Amino acid sequence: MLQEARKLRIYNTLTGKKDVFEPITPGYVGMYVCGPTVYNDAHLGNCRTYVSFDVIHRYFRHIGYKVRYVRNITDVGHLTDDGEDRMAKGSKLAQLEPMEVAQKYTLGFHDMMRILNTLPPSIEPRATGHIPEQIEMVQSILDRGLAYERNGSVYFNVPKFAGENPGVYGSVSGRVLDDLYAETRELKNQDEKDHPADFAIWMKARPQDLMVWNSPWSVGFPGWHLECSAMSTKYLGKSFDIHGGGNDLKFPHHENEVAQNHGACGCSPARTWMHTNMLLLNNRKMSKSDGNTISPAELFSGNSPHTTKAYSPMVVRFFMLMAHYRSTLDITDDALLAAEKGYNKLMETNRLLQSMPVDSGAFDGSENEHDRAVLSLMEEAYQGMDDDFNTAMVIAALNEMGSYVHKIANKQLPADALSPWVLDKMKVTFATFLFDILGLLDDTSSGGDSGVVDGLMDLILDMRAQARAQKDWAASDKIRDALSAIGIQVKDGKEGVTWGRSL
Ligand code: AMP
Ligand code: ZN
Repeated sequence: MLQEARKLRIYNTLTGKKDVFEPITPGYVGMYVCGPTVYNDAHLGNCRTYVSFDVIHRYFRHIGYKVRYVRNITDVGHLTDDGEDRMAKGSKLAQLEPMEVAQKYTLGFHDMMRILNTLPPSIEPRATGHIPEQIEMVQSILDRGLAYERNGSVYFNVPKFAGENPGVYGSVSGRVLDDLYAETRELKNQDEKDHPADFAIWMKARPQDLMVWNSPWSVGFPGWHLECSAMSTKYLGKSFDIHGGGNDLKFPHHENEVAQNHGACGCSPARTWMHTNMLLLNNRKMSKSDGNTISPAELFSGNSPHTTKAYSPMVVRFFMLMAHYRSTLDITDDALLAAEKGYNKLMETNRLLQSMPVDSGAFDGSENEHDRAVLSLMEEAYQGMDDDFNTAMVIAALNEMGSYVHKIANKQLPADALSPWVLDKMKVTFATFLFDILGLLDDTSSGGDSGVVDGLMDLILDMRAQARAQKDWAASDKIRDALSAIGIQVKDGKEGVTWGRSL
């Protein structure tokens, strides 16, 4: 279904409003999203951002665009606040080579993306695989007089850039230059810089740095912001359609990316900047560094102090899509329970809908009042996506369509309340939104394997409960250990016994 003429409105961080999307090349979207720093496991907050961009990617494809979706892997140069390379930190902790750390967590990240049913990006470039491109970019910025070398490191000259390009520095984060100057503290080599707002685009290696390369300036490594500038230019060109990431990357990462691209090529990289809002836990940003986090594995297996039971990956995906990507989302047990109910209900509605017979001989195109209501709900679902990818609006429209399905099934409405062609169209549209656009899978089906597994697990947990009632701890432990050996965790909680798959 080619619908690329639909008027999509996307909130653009640069303009602070929803702009009508005009692709640079008709029918084609180039989209770059900042990928994970692979020095530890992705947390659910990271997953929220990638699930949001997955739905955006899916919708563009659904309405007929060809999409080149580039999402990088950061495996060098992303320093912690006290100047340590995150990869070096990860490798010290695990006593592994930095490249082993990168490989381990890249594979883990891919597993998580697959479990959450996200489509892979078209290109997934690694920062360490693009050192020559980054060195070239540093050279271009130097050639344009917008950077200077100090003792083997190269710094971007922010005041000079800002003076030559009024309104550009600060356009992503919305901060005024004086505030940025006052706020910017970079602990490392602070005294080498001409100005506190300047930032390193090439860093001379210190004795403790493990990942280093030759360059015209020193043996060292690129600044973190540089990789995205170099790789987006390489794969999407100097100017492309969309650049995305989480809100927390607006400053300094994205602000500095724009400055570097501009500094190297004289033009702004992305026309539209999109930022997802944060996943919260206990009303605070979910983040590894301050321990406010649930890992996906904990959530899927029910082994988290924050939840009473296990939630399936599809319930978690649905939970994320119940809110608009620009709203904060607080993860609580109650909210997950509500999401589970909502997800199960939509899957059940879909099964009911797909089982309804369609009288294929009666496609006369006529419309009654129910037909018109259902047709306008289908259009509402599309309008929700067109309105800055409002998945919450889509889910509301699907639920309303579902009420017609249930009314027909309960005989509150006659079986022929909807004209056959409308019923047929609703079947296709409903499933398309659930599976192709929202990217859900039906893991509730009682007819397939998951129903058999549920039944078997009920039986096994019953046997374990009987063993425990008879104080046969050896048998009870044997069942738990045997399940654990095949990746199933059993949890005894206040609400009873629950189980989930460990990852
Ligand atoms: P990082 O691995 O820290 O570079 O983060 C990878 C992506 O996850 C970035 O786009 C971040 O903006 C995003 N991110 C980090 N924390 C959260 C959170 N709590 N909620 C949503 N997105 C997040
Ligand atoms: Zn980036």
